[in-house]
Amino acid sequence: MTGAAAEPESVARGIAPLTALKGIGHAKAALLAQLGLRSVRDLLLVQPARLLVWPEACTVGEARRSKGEHVTVEGRVSRSVLQRIGGKRSIVRATLSDGTGEIDLVFFNQPWMKEHLSTGTEVVAHGEVTDVRGPVIGGPKLGTEKNPLPAPGTLAPQYAGGEGVSGEVIAGWVQDALERFGERLDEPLPAAFLERVRAPSAGEAALALHRPESVAAFEFARRRFALEAVLRLQARVHARRRRTAGRARAARVTDALHADLVTRFPYELTAAQSKVAGEIRADIALTRPMRRLLQGDVGSGKTAVAAYAAMAVAESGGQVAVMAPTEVLASQHAYGLAPLLEAHGLRTALLTGALRAGDRKSVVERLGAGEIDVVFGTHSLFSDSVAFRRLDLAVIDEQHRFGVAQRDRLAAKGQDVHVLLMTATPIPRTLALTVYGDLEVSILDQSPPGRGEVVTRWARGDDRRRMPKLLMERLHAGEQIYWVVPRIGGETEDGGDAKTTASAEARFENLCARPSFAAAGIDLVHGRLAPEDRALRLDRFRRGEIGLIVATTVVEVGVDVPNATVMVIEDAHRLGLAQLHQLRGRVGRSSKRSYCFLLGDRKGAERFQLLERSRDGFELAEEDLRQRGMGDLLGLRQSGENLEGLVDPERDLDLLLAARDLFQDRPDLVGAFL
Ligand code: ADP
Ligand code: MG
Repeated sequence: MTGAAAEPESVARGIAPLTALKGIGHAKAALLAQLGLRSVRDLLLVQPARLLVWPEACTVGEARRSKGEHVTVEGRVSRSVLQRIGGKRSIVRATLSDGTGEIDLVFFNQPWMKEHLSTGTEVVAHGEVTDVRGPVIGGPKLGTEKNPLPAPGTLAPQYAGGEGVSGEVIAGWVQDALERFGERLDEPLPAAFLERVRAPSAGEAALALHRPESVAAFEFARRRFALEAVLRLQARVHARRRRTAGRARAARVTDALHADLVTRFPYELTAAQSKVAGEIRADIALTRPMRRLLQGDVGSGKTAVAAYAAMAVAESGGQVAVMAPTEVLASQHAYGLAPLLEAHGLRTALLTGALRAGDRKSVVERLGAGEIDVVFGTHSLFSDSVAFRRLDLAVIDEQHRFGVAQRDRLAAKGQDVHVLLMTATPIPRTLALTVYGDLEVSILDQSPPGRGEVVTRWARGDDRRRMPKLLMERLHAGEQIYWVVPRIGGETEDGGDAKTTASAEARFENLCARPSFAAAGIDLVHGRLAPEDRALRLDRFRRGEIGLIVATTVVEVGVDVPNATVMVIEDAHRLGLAQLHQLRGRVGRSSKRSYCFLLGDRKGAERFQLLERSRDGFELAEEDLRQRGMGDLLGLRQSGENLEGLVDPERDLDLLLAARDLFQDRPDLVGAFL
């Protein structure tokens, strides 16, 4: 060994500690750490908030009209006023005039500015024009003969400051860091990769970002930093995946069992269902826990796939939980699947909040004792009081209805649990790669055969007048009708206007008063009914004892009554495109022709016309996304990943894909970005 002591690894990776820079002691280093800047490397890679191009000087009149912009303005001080506002706090307002108008320069806690800018002084000032009862420039920079402002066209990156450190001070340190350590900035990424994603190396980027030669060079450098953020995100996703390499129950489904399972259904599985069943079969044969997301449009038959997975795991002795977002849907799963499972000796139960205490206790006990193979329920399945003997598979239906937090809670319940997530709302590819990047994705891209057409109409004028007759005909033919009204009763707490918006209760009474409808049997369901009552009423509808059900959007997800052929949605403009598509998905579940009538005003016109044109949930979801904007992506914000401003999922899709591939090929690089 030679004389020089080896640098500790953390310092080596960071080139040098921040305290190696002029003017940074431990106190300042601590403040910088709060901004996420812990080493000289971090400082070299900090993203400027924006690039300032020093403007040509303008007249005061022009400055007054440039609210929100950064201007340089020349003039003469016509008046200067100091105002003390308590303690050491003060405001100086120096009014600048040049014959085209007046604008105030405002200085906080710099009382000496009153003398410095005495009446008659010639001034060049630069700053942002804001509106404080008229245009002002707050905290401007002043040019002097000795210290002139930079020449117009000069490029100056601007940095965001934080508590105790201004952006300007950070700018100085960045320059110092660049000077002394810029050459030592290492680039962990392979050159070929950088070339492929068209990004500069870290060293080139730091130079172009902090000392840009052109706006274009600056923008190009930013790509390396968007990449940095993407790589950090993907590194976490990758690490999460590696962590889950675990000890799940390997449920080996033999060819004989597989053949047996698929023939238990009262119908033949579609090719898409068979394919996904095969994927699940392969997943659960491993001790690495399954993390699979099943996307399939409404009515594509996701439940059957869930049933396959549940039977496969239960047949090999494991316990299964099937979770749904609503009690209605949980009891429907139990109602629909229990006979199928029990016919083959599997023991099932339903666990929801609606259960009486005694029944709940019994179910919980049997779960703990391993006397239940498959349990259906709401999120109450994963409350702390519920312990499984050994949970091996969790199926989460309509998973987008659950927050990311709930998903994590489930994962915490058992690191070694196979998880199948199901959703009818397609997750955009970018989001799937980011928040859900640790999931495998299966798609049901085919509906069960023999589905009748669904006629969708924005019912106005003649269509609206003809509607009752058509409804009567369908009822006489023994078919059933959903009539959805978003609002329950006379309340207006949701911002709706009680006078102009319909209510489910009023609609129910109105229909009951019409003997021709009443004869078919009418009922009402909404979220304010006791859960048992709601379930009872839906069961009666399911069994066909009631011809028409007036409902709020409680029937939106998952409800499956194939004999229902008409969906009427009142005040449809109050619902989003995805929600309307889900509601429409309640009909068209048999070979009979179905109808969806949208009643609503012009506000919903664009949505209604889209629904009339398309029945394809993926197409509609894309459109929905386009209309609402990418900023509103489900879950991206909830995910806790702070990507805002750094990564634009649309613009940087190629980077997201490239980062994922990179770590797949070079897992050794993951550590450099964690
Ligand atoms: P979703 O994907 O919206 O959850 P479901 O699982 O509720 O759809 O299925 C919709 C309807 O299609 C149900 O009535 C179900 O019994 C029926 N179904 C599912 N798979 C098939 C199939 N392979 N052949 C015929 N009918 C099927
Ligand atoms: Mg479903």
